Amino acid sequence: MTSFSDFGLADTLNRALVDAGYETPTPIQTQAIPDLLKGRDLLGIAQTGTGKTAAFALPILQRLAPGKPAAPRRVRALILSPTRELATQIAESFKLYSRYMNHMSIAVVFGGVGHRPQEDRLKRGVDILVATPGRLMDHMAAGMVSLETTEIFVLDEADQMLDMGFVQPVRRIVKHLPKARQSLFFSATMPKEIGQLAGELLFNPITVSVAPAATTVERVEQRVIHVETAAKRRLLLDVIVAEKPERALIFTRTKHGADRVVRQLGQDGVDAAAIHGNKSQAQREKALAAFKAGTTQILVATDIAARGIDVTGVSHVINFDLPNIPESYVHRIGRTARAGASGVAISFCADDERPYLKDIEKVTRQKIPAEDRRGTISVAERADTAERGERPSGKRPQPGNRSGNPRNNRRPAPPAVSAEQQRRDAMPAAKARQPGAAKPSHAAHGKPGQSKASQRPSHRDTGAAEETLGRVGFLAGGREGMKRRPEGRGQRDGR
Ligand code: AMP
Repeated sequence: MTSFSDFGLADTLNRALVDAGYETPTPIQTQAIPDLLKGRDLLGIAQTGTGKTAAFALPILQRLAPGKPAAPRRVRALILSPTRELATQIAESFKLYSRYMNHMSIAVVFGGVGHRPQEDRLKRGVDILVATPGRLMDHMAAGMVSLETTEIFVLDEADQMLDMGFVQPVRRIVKHLPKARQSLFFSATMPKEIGQLAGELLFNPITVSVAPAATTVERVEQRVIHVETAAKRRLLLDVIVAEKPERALIFTRTKHGADRVVRQLGQDGVDAAAIHGNKSQAQREKALAAFKAGTTQILVATDIAARGIDVTGVSHVINFDLPNIPESYVHRIGRTARAGASGVAISFCADDERPYLKDIEKVTRQKIPAEDRRGTISVAERADTAERGERPSGKRPQPGNRSGNPRNNRRPAPPAVSAEQQRRDAMPAAKARQPGAAKPSHAAHGKPGQSKASQRPSHRDTGAAEETLGRVGFLAGGREGMKRRPEGRGQRDGR
């Protein structure tokens, strides 16, 4: 088996790798590093989580080390990243690996923050610049930076660039690079347009493909739970209570969906934060830092915001909504299987999401073990029960028994929410009934004449909800329990 010492890297780099705790190179590192050290171009088909950052960062550092530091307003290596989060993480990795090197300057530029500090930094010259395309173009247009002497160019997460509409900006930036350069191109998937772009940018590249579907998917314990859209909220609470995740990433398809899940968890007494494109840079950084530090144990994210999030120790990925692109499923569950670790991925599948599940199983060439909870978490029944102030009957599982007697840890039900709030919270059920969507089961419909508000999994469900909250409360007292706010309602993620 290859070890890092086989690559002939500088001692300074090897020492940093020991500090980082890297013992064995990952497959993409083994396959890419030797050729990159020779100056070859590379087409890497790999997702975040495979160790691809070190696969390109280590050879770049090694190759730049003997040369002269960057001249003012010049960049020696440029890494383009689609998101601020990924750009920041790449820059952090470069800093980590170059910690024993003298004079290796690393800077990161992205939008959403002031231009001035970035301009001051660029004017001094940067050895390794990590940038998002839009802000880099601003700085180039303002004459703050020139790429005419850039020696190495990396395009990271190219397929994400395409999704975010960055392909033309990338082409424009590339025009400013010298023809004689080393180019590296990474993408998790290879749609036609991305293959075309790779063809334009690379010269006689080596191709390294780290099959994410097989490697990641195999390491993660996966489950699907079939459930009505309207019952997902309650199921999420049940899953959190039963699984006691140390660190959970919950995925929704939309930004609004992410906010709604955070809000509902908050109302149910569970702390969570959202990370998506509508959040300010400061909010995203704060949420991510709290998640990394473990002060927030639940982060709710959309696919784009979560791409490139590098957090070790994610114990659970919960797909509140199934993604409509199968590759996104692989990306999502890959968050819990980083660098050899394994985790649990639980996906909620409503009737109208069944075609997505089929696609996912086809692409990942596996059948995901499934459980059918349709009809067991009956929204209508719970609404009725709430009105009568009784516990619901029926088959709903009682995972809290694992944790002891929840009745000792009851908390009072939160105060009633406003009519407007109730209306908005009833939206997911309503939205699921779009043309073409499968008709939800009777349980999600409620009875004729019943208000939408009474169909939602409500705080007024003083029987079942209080019991579940009690179980959350019990967990909150435990060492690994979910963080819970003292108050039962309100919003917290800085919106
Ligand atoms: P990446 O795919 O570059 O985002 O890397 C995913 C995670 O794996 C990061 O937390 C890296 O620090 C870590 N990592 C990368 N290479 C190795 C390695 N050879 N051994 C252990 N961890 C690694």
